[in-house]
Amino acid sequence: MSELGLIEQIRRNFTHESTAVTLGIGDDCAILRPPSGCEVVVTTDFTLEGRHFRRDRHPPESVGHRCLARGLSDLAAMGATPMAAFLSLALPSTMLAEASGRAWTARFFDGLRALSELHGVPLAGGDTAESPGGRAGLVLADIVLIGSAPKGQALRRSGASVGDALYVTGQLGGAAAELSTMMRRRTGRIASAKTTEDHPQLFPEPRLDVGEALLRRGMATACIDVSDGLSTDLAHLCQASALCAEIEQAALPIHPLARKLGADSALDAALNGGEDYELLFAAPASLRMPSSLAGVPITRIGALMNRRSGRPTMSLLTNDGSRNELKPGGWEHFSQSATRAKKRSR
Ligand code: ADP
Ligand code: MG
Repeated sequence: MSELGLIEQIRRNFTHESTAVTLGIGDDCAILRPPSGCEVVVTTDFTLEGRHFRRDRHPPESVGHRCLARGLSDLAAMGATPMAAFLSLALPSTMLAEASGRAWTARFFDGLRALSELHGVPLAGGDTAESPGGRAGLVLADIVLIGSAPKGQALRRSGASVGDALYVTGQLGGAAAELSTMMRRRTGRIASAKTTEDHPQLFPEPRLDVGEALLRRGMATACIDVSDGLSTDLAHLCQASALCAEIEQAALPIHPLARKLGADSALDAALNGGEDYELLFAAPASLRMPSSLAGVPITRIGALMNRRSGRPTMSLLTNDGSRNELKPGGWEHFSQSATRAKKRSR
């Protein structure tokens, strides 16, 4: 199969109608039309073999799913509605030349398409190239998501106030727990490719409906998605809002897969495990927060307070009643070992 053949296959497979996309795959540019009264919201995310996934471990459907999920989660964090996705993809020559490579590529697009259909976000363009290195070349993908949000209303990391409560959607630590189980298995790739079961690592669910509900109902004062780990992403929200935060250990909604690892590892996964793609947001303490939004459980995990000398930016109120500094301990980009930094002081 040639590069042109692949593009033709993508064009045929991704053909859902959309009012936001006036012109999709096939011309030099796509043409998009945001709803009136809205502004355009843009995010871009790499998915790099060896850094964000392992070809010998992650099923190809999962790689395609996660590639799109990363961008959708960023839109969710802004309360935006997706308009279109663009995918720049570099593939080793074997991925088009050999049957096993073509099967991998087809399954990658199956995973991406399933999630795109679930959220009604068309793939409106991209770029395709051969990645250097021959057989040893890597699969490298960059996805761009374009969304829309009512003018001036997109949720930001800044904007939270002293006294606001902190909430998180869904459960934390599941993605890290599933990953550690995957890496411990002696056998290679997981055969299962379906999202029917709960697979927080393989098939995370971007919280678009929650983000849109938070924006529409004017509930959140600040919002971020938990892509790098709660401790790291909370630090970003604190920084942007110029506040300190206190988290209650007992309140953390820890994913059952993380709980199976034992209490210490479960807490570590919930605080520092990345890739959960839940939303972390602030809302006035006086606001009555429903126990779920768009069918997703919402849990109050702490509060925001003034910056004060001697007060750490983040602290953890532990189950035994002590108050410890919480340091950002999640995913670090460009860390030499590409493992999670264990910098948390407990
Ligand atoms: P150009 O040379 O003008 O950049 P290309 O030949 O790269 O055009 O692409 C032709 C069309 O196919 C464009 O509409 C482009 O957006 C689309 N396209 C190319 N690669 C991909 C891809 N990986 N996913 C989706 N659309 C793609
Ligand atoms: Mg062109």
